[in-house]
Amino acid sequence: MQSIEIIIASFYLFFGIIIGSFLNVVSLRYDTGDSILGRSMCLSCSKELKWFELIPILSFISQFGKCRDCKEKISWQYPLVELFTGIIFLGIFLKFSDLLLVSIQQLIVISVYFMVVFSILIVIFVYDLKYKIIPNDLVYTFSTLALAGIFFDPATFQVSIPTLLPFLSGPIFFLFFFSFWFFSRGTWMGLGDGKLALGIGWLLGLSFGITAIILSFWIGAFISIILMSIPLLNFKGKRLTMKSEIPFGPFLILGLLLVFFFNINILNFIL
Ligand SMILES: [Zn+2]
Repeated sequence: MQSIEIIIASFYLFFGIIIGSFLNVVSLRYDTGDSILGRSMCLSCSKELKWFELIPILSFISQFGKCRDCKEKISWQYPLVELFTGIIFLGIFLKFSDLLLVSIQQLIVISVYFMVVFSILIVIFVYDLKYKIIPNDLVYTFSTLALAGIFFDPATFQVSIPTLLPFLSGPIFFLFFFSFWFFSRGTWMGLGDGKLALGIGWLLGLSFGITAIILSFWIGAFISIILMSIPLLNFKGKRLTMKSEIPFGPFLILGLLLVFFFNINILNFIL
């Protein structure tokens, strides 16, 4: 890696950490009626936070994860989402860094596109994990961006008509999850998972998309078995059983991220 690349890579990392801090606020205030631009305060004692308490990751570490005033614990969600977003933004640069030599303009367009797409997915991830709901407007925005992506060629900056298969992969995945939802009457899978899979199909195409969905089932099964088999592990005060409702959205998003950043294609191994 050349020094210019290291400088740009660090910029992506730090920019991601700052955006991650913003995504925490969005996922916290989403649907509450609170303005996203309002001042941040401690959720426990409602004291307004000063600038040095708002520095991503560092404030959490320097305060040992506690509020400076009421000493109430601050959620691990904050530093984790900040770090996670930073790593994802860094990953976007590493995936497309070859474009530095080809076209800076193209690198910027692609970077901004995926930064927006993954920011929406991170909020969906946090929200689904916390409330077991995938907000409609977020998942529709994601799917629309994914659909727009197959019509737009970043190399030429022109609109191109896609072939049928990349277009169909979205609806195919949606129908797959829709049938799960329909036949289980919503007990195995929420309809939100289907809407998420629609965008995943458009974003990754058919074979990478199938890989992402297979991976998400594996990750989901793996984590569920761990949560159920370890008696010491509690899930919000209750031990997890087969009946417990585990949100599936985060697994789908993890599957998508693994495929996107590591170019995994299971079909290459099977076929
Ligand atoms: Zn406090």
